[in-house]
Amino acid sequence: MTDEKLSWLNGNFIDEEKAVVPIMTHSLQYGSGIFEGIRGYETPKGTEIFRLKEHVKRFFNTAKIYGMNLGFSEGDIEKAIIEIVRRNKLKSCYIRPFAFYDDHSVGVGTAGKKISVYIGAFPFGKYFSAADTGLKCKVSSWHRMESSILPIEAKASGNYLNSVIAMKEAKASGFDEAILTSRDGYVAEGPGENIFIVKDGALLTPGRDSQILLGITRNTIIELMKENGMQVIERFIHREELYTADEAFFVGTAAEVTPILNIDGITIGDGKVGSITKKVWETYFNLVQGKSNTHQDYLTYV
Ligand code: PMP
Repeated sequence: MTDEKLSWLNGNFIDEEKAVVPIMTHSLQYGSGIFEGIRGYETPKGTEIFRLKEHVKRFFNTAKIYGMNLGFSEGDIEKAIIEIVRRNKLKSCYIRPFAFYDDHSVGVGTAGKKISVYIGAFPFGKYFSAADTGLKCKVSSWHRMESSILPIEAKASGNYLNSVIAMKEAKASGFDEAILTSRDGYVAEGPGENIFIVKDGALLTPGRDSQILLGITRNTIIELMKENGMQVIERFIHREELYTADEAFFVGTAAEVTPILNIDGITIGDGKVGSITKKVWETYFNLVQGKSNTHQDYLTYV
């Protein structure tokens, strides 16, 4: 076993290659896993894990919604995450806590089935290859599923089929990414990102009732930009408001802050990365890369 690629499984540090499951695993067959996506960043003071507590909280909330008893406390999982980053000597990285029904019998029911908890971490850079130059997006013909169908505030594996099919459609049509709307036509989010637009100097983002995952990056950016004196409005956004926006960008743990320059073939603003997007980008990266004096409690150094 090298000490370079360790994972954590049910309280034990194991070789990443040994973290495998049989094909018939319930969560593989039925999408019943739950997970988180967390980033670690290299900073002048060493690696920090960004908003660790909030991510672990959302992991436990997802488990609660699905009635999964993880058998560990939030503190246990936070410690294990810090330890996995430390032991793998990771700098900028992605961390994936995952809990799943570790049962291999046929049957959708979950009663009495074993739950396993895994944490993996690996080096990670940009999520989008066009992260700096901007994305071309397509409003999907697939709507965002709504919370009467599946709990959309939960970060559960099955939810991501809605994302997969929207992304497939966007890519097949020559776009970089999809934008999903709710069934009543309001803008919701990307397949793995929240969205913001800029109108007349204000930042607008779909609110909680717009069928979105309550993103931790979204929350961070709302907070940071309000502190910067910017007007930030959470409300329903019409599809056509995307086309007439001055600027648009995605945010998320993986996506960070990624400009959107074209939607459905319509150029957003002047087609260049806008000044407010740049400001959001700078403010966010200053914080996560340990160059800001504010919100130090969001940074957990390993
Ligand atoms: N929406 C969806 C569907 C996502 O998968 C993600 C990524 N977790 C986000 C939004 C952004 O959430 P966060 O900022 O917490 O990563």
